[in-house]
Amino acid sequence: MIWGCIYWNGVGTLAPVDGDINAVKYQEILDEHLWPVIARHFPGDKYVVLMYTYAPRIITCNVDVVNRNLPSANIKKSSKAQHTQLSIGKKPGGGSKEAPLFLMMCTAKDRNGTKFKIKDNVQQIFGKFLNEGKATIRFKEPEQDLCLSKADPLQLKNFLNLLKKAAQGQSIDHITLSVLAPASAKNVEKPKSKMIVTSRKDYPLTTNFPSSLISLQVSSCKLKRIDSRIFDLKKLQVLNLSENCVEEISTDFGKFTTLGELYLNNNFITSINPRFCLQKNLILTLSILDLNYNQLKLLPLQICELCNLYNLKLNNNLLESLPPTIGRLRNLRLFSASQNKIALLPASFMQLKLEYVDLFGNNFPDEVEDSLLEDNVGVPSLVEACARSVKKYRVPYTDEDLHGHLCRYLDSARLCWCGAYCFESSARYIHKVSLKDLTSTSTSIGDAGRNEVPIQGFLCSPQCLNKFKNNPRAYWK
Ligand SMILES: [Zn+2]
Repeated sequence: MIWGCIYWNGVGTLAPVDGDINAVKYQEILDEHLWPVIARHFPGDKYVVLMYTYAPRIITCNVDVVNRNLPSANIKKSSKAQHTQLSIGKKPGGGSKEAPLFLMMCTAKDRNGTKFKIKDNVQQIFGKFLNEGKATIRFKEPEQDLCLSKADPLQLKNFLNLLKKAAQGQSIDHITLSVLAPASAKNVEKPKSKMIVTSRKDYPLTTNFPSSLISLQVSSCKLKRIDSRIFDLKKLQVLNLSENCVEEISTDFGKFTTLGELYLNNNFITSINPRFCLQKNLILTLSILDLNYNQLKLLPLQICELCNLYNLKLNNNLLESLPPTIGRLRNLRLFSASQNKIALLPASFMQLKLEYVDLFGNNFPDEVEDSLLEDNVGVPSLVEACARSVKKYRVPYTDEDLHGHLCRYLDSARLCWCGAYCFESSARYIHKVSLKDLTSTSTSIGDAGRNEVPIQGFLCSPQCLNKFKNNPRAYWK
């Protein structure tokens, strides 16, 4: 954006502006760019008056009305700040020049408004926190204080200046004041925080999504890609994009700073971009991820970085396995992956502190037998020794840093129950575990109430192998 100014004899400076203009930025612009122009072109003028064409006679903010007559000691304030439109003007019919001015307060419940006489009736204006958009107007009659908050600081400043002048009986004729009229519903309604779109014809194409949205549902709109305008909603906490045609989970979700719940069920998602799981904002905030009814064959290892996940839903996908490091989801309490093709669970699954698990309808074998394959525990190769270090110190790697072959090798790391990583040079065991031992609330995994599943684990060294032989459950309890 460009800011500029013009005057009688010509033009002033042009100043580029980054982003939106708020009160602070506007004052900076005036300081840096307007005053030099005035000083240069009007050197003789000692008094320059800065007047705004836009001196608002209407502002919207939150207002809490406090009655000073009520005893305040030990009584909890019952009133609550309401979204309000405040305006200055004359009563209908009082169009003459001398007619008194009033401050009118309109809320959603009272759109016709309450009027306060202004002249000689404003006892005091408290404006210590103007820059935070807060102020208090004290009236003599009725004995009430209007506590304003959440206003635009610059608008509030100008509005109160106008009020002050009117209260002192000064002339404010240069500002056109219209007759007070009831507020329109749009102006007194609370900013919209929730929006639900469930058909393509209701999808906003020409208007924007309200920036105040906290919860947004866009379902059954055949979305293939997610609208970039959605990613600009900075206050969004719940996003429901179920029943669309989304194919990939992109990294754009990292733009959300407060997203706690993401519903992507009933789409055509075949892959999750590993970088999606590494977005710092999501790692901090995401607690519910619903991917039921998609086409996922594999979860990226990086999904285990979303350490604040509380509820992960993966029902009705094509998963054949779960990431070997899934135990790192230390806040996960609800996990469901029914109707997939999982045949073995990784050993770290036992580290999860689940309250509910559902693994019904997978490819678990009917009979599970404990087995131990210890051929390969020995000295690791040089490549494996390096790879173990890369994984141990969590050195980040991508296809850009390493040959793709090495990346896939690193991705194939097996997690020993001691927490170390290993590759081919490891012993493998399969151990039978009842889901009942894992959590109090679990569904059976198949007909007739079966609930025993095979856990596959790896052991990185002869020491770990010996410990396992002595007590296969040593690390789980
Ligand atoms: Zn080990």
